[in-house]
Amino acid sequence: MNKYIWTGLFCIGLTSCQNKNSEAQTQDKQSKETTAVEKKEFTKPEETEVWKPQPKQINVDPISKIPSDALVLFDGSNFDRWTSSVDSTTVKWIMNDDGSMTVKDKTGDIQTKQNFGDVQLHIEWRSNPESSVTGQNKSNSGVFLQNRYELQILDNNNNETYVNGQVGSVYKQSIPLARVSAPTGKWNTYEIIYRQPIFDAVGNKIKSAYITALHNGVLIQDHFEILGTTEYIGLPINKPHGKAPIKLQDHQDKSGVSFRNIWVREL
Ligand code: MG
Repeated sequence: MNKYIWTGLFCIGLTSCQNKNSEAQTQDKQSKETTAVEKKEFTKPEETEVWKPQPKQINVDPISKIPSDALVLFDGSNFDRWTSSVDSTTVKWIMNDDGSMTVKDKTGDIQTKQNFGDVQLHIEWRSNPESSVTGQNKSNSGVFLQNRYELQILDNNNNETYVNGQVGSVYKQSIPLARVSAPTGKWNTYEIIYRQPIFDAVGNKIKSAYITALHNGVLIQDHFEILGTTEYIGLPINKPHGKAPIKLQDHQDKSGVSFRNIWVREL
């Protein structure tokens, strides 16, 4: 190998070394900068404070406990916000003197006239103390989000059934985390946070619905991913839909379930 080749190789090697040194220096510099950001030492509380946007102001009524931005769906005075799920006629359920309503057997489900998507829903219900039947027939009703996804209502006091269909279940999909029922005939509360599913332009579900629910203040469904419709027979079905009514069930077995104080906040 002559001296020119050796010189060439030496130059190539030197250039390579110089490039590597340069890359290393750049990386080192970037690394130090990153580390500097990561390890930035905050010295003032103001540096991590965020002041905007301000959340909207909601006032809660001291007596009714209803938030000021809630839509009252039922307050015991009328069925104006409800309609029959059977034929869209006037609700046939029983209006009681105490501000509640009771399922009138075999008149069918009722649903809100308004359609809803993401909601916070408050609803109070009471099982029927006169009921003498058992299993799924004992004060069976349900809250159907978007007309499809049932949070079960049932009197499970001294009354066993399949646990994924008991009170507080997402019917046939999710066993409640606890059983928190009031004594038979006493009022229960459901607080429901519901996020609707999202479908793409061709009808494929790209995001599931989710439900969080509290029964008498106790968490029973913890951000559960709803698998599809809550079917009595068979597996969940996922057909695309938009906003839809909130439905209350007439199980058609003289359930005698009552409801009162229903309000909703759109999220
Ligand atoms: Mg039911």
